[in-house]
Amino acid sequence: MCGIVGYTGPQSAITPLIEGLRRLEYRGYDSAGIALGTNGALFIEKRAGKLTNLEGSLPANMPVVHSGIGHTRWATHGGPTDRNAHPHTDNEGKLAVIHNGIIENYPELKGVLLRKGYAFESDTDTEVIAHLIHAITIEKNLRLLDAVKAAVAQLHGAYGIAVIDKSDPTCLVCARSGSPLVIGVGIGENFIASDPAALGQVTDRFMYLEEGDIAQITLTSWRIWNNGKEVSREMNQIRQDNDEVMKGKYRHYMQKEIHEQPAVLRNTLQSRIGKTRL
Ligand code: GLU
Repeated sequence: MCGIVGYTGPQSAITPLIEGLRRLEYRGYDSAGIALGTNGALFIEKRAGKLTNLEGSLPANMPVVHSGIGHTRWATHGGPTDRNAHPHTDNEGKLAVIHNGIIENYPELKGVLLRKGYAFESDTDTEVIAHLIHAITIEKNLRLLDAVKAAVAQLHGAYGIAVIDKSDPTCLVCARSGSPLVIGVGIGENFIASDPAALGQVTDRFMYLEEGDIAQITLTSWRIWNNGKEVSREMNQIRQDNDEVMKGKYRHYMQKEIHEQPAVLRNTLQSRIGKTRL
């Protein structure tokens, strides 16, 4: 299983991102990476192996950057290498994408993007998402949120994604279908995660995104759309001040993951066969 964390706020983003990824370590992963929005550019670092490999590769004098996304990967397409680790970016380095899940129609999308001149740097299914959003942004002159809405309409498969754009890095966009995502609400700062467990140290207020939701967070706001309409999602208070709460009613994390499987499978199948009730 893999993990997603996103942060926008006044703090240095690296702290909640690395701590969030550490809190997701129990799920198992083969690579980790981050993208930070800094001075009109994206700083991306990613490494195969443990989170400590990523931490060890960060410059000692990291600039303080206030927004970013982080990912732990469990490879499905392309081996566990630095190159295949997330985030993935477009050829211009305009935006970065992290993804949990599988894009079933990536060969078709990749063919179209190759014909448009996009060069691929990894063997993942995920990289098509970065180029696709970039292509839509440029061709249709859309801002990130609308480009993500148009891009996910072309994706078949299961995904939870988070996207950061260097032109407005304090605004993060995320979308889910078949893979879980939550918005963590702070005070003057907001978060994205694949599991509330990633954010137990920073907030206890969460909104679970539903199938087909696309959301945008800034320091002080969140907005969510589904099927073209703006929607609201219930705010939940979840205290996670000890290990037992993170494991829920289960004795071990592995037991928790085993019991989560039916819901994960149901979501994945639903994303493939549409609204049919399982
Ligand atoms: N399918 C993507 C990959 O292999 C995402 C895997 C994951 O969910 O971590 O890179």
